[in-house]
Amino acid sequence: MAKTRKLGNKVSRLTTQQIREKAQLFRIKLSEFGICENFQYIDIAKVIDTLNTMDIISMEIVEDSKLSKEYAVTAPDQNKILIRESVYNNACNGVPRDRFTIAHEIGHLLLHRGIIQIFACSEFISNHSYEEDAEWQADMFASELLIDCNQLDNIKTVKDIADKFVVSLECAGYAYKKLTREKFL
Ligand SMILES: [Zn+2]
Repeated sequence: MAKTRKLGNKVSRLTTQQIREKAQLFRIKLSEFGICENFQYIDIAKVIDTLNTMDIISMEIVEDSKLSKEYAVTAPDQNKILIRESVYNNACNGVPRDRFTIAHEIGHLLLHRGIIQIFACSEFISNHSYEEDAEWQADMFASELLIDCNQLDNIKTVKDIADKFVVSLECAGYAYKKLTREKFL
C-alpha cells in the first residue's frame, strides 16, 4: 500500500511512458504549427504565446499580487492558464524554474481536461499512488516536454542536461536518474 504523503488531486493513473508519448506528440504538433523546430530547446514562452494567439488555449498574465499563493493556475475545462506576471517574464528570459512552471501548467491542460475544474497545484495529505497524482503527472509531462529523451547525444552529466535543455539542476538531476534507470543514458 502506498505510504501517506503530501500529494495533489487524485486522477486516472498515467505511467511515465504514457506521459512521455503525450509529450512527444505535443512536440510534433508544435513543429507542425511551426512553433518549435529545435527540439533541443523548447522556447516555452513562445509556445504558450502562440497557442494563445491561435486561440488553442486562453492565457492570462496576472499581477503577482493577484496570484499571491500560486505561480500559476490552470482550469482545464476552460482551457485557461493564469500565470503570474513575474513567472511569465522570467520564462521569456529563459529562467529554468519559470520555464518548468509553464510546461507543468500545459501538462495539466493536456492531461487533465474534463477531470477537475481548477488546478491550483495545491498539496494535501493522501495515500494515492504517484502515478495517480495530478501534480506528479504534470511535473513528469513538463520534464518530458523540456528534456527530449531522443536528444541525449553528448550528455554525460546532470549539468549537461541543465545546460542543453535550460532546466534547473534539480529538474536535470531527477531526469538524469530516470533516464539512467531507463538506459537512455
Ligand atoms: Zn500543478
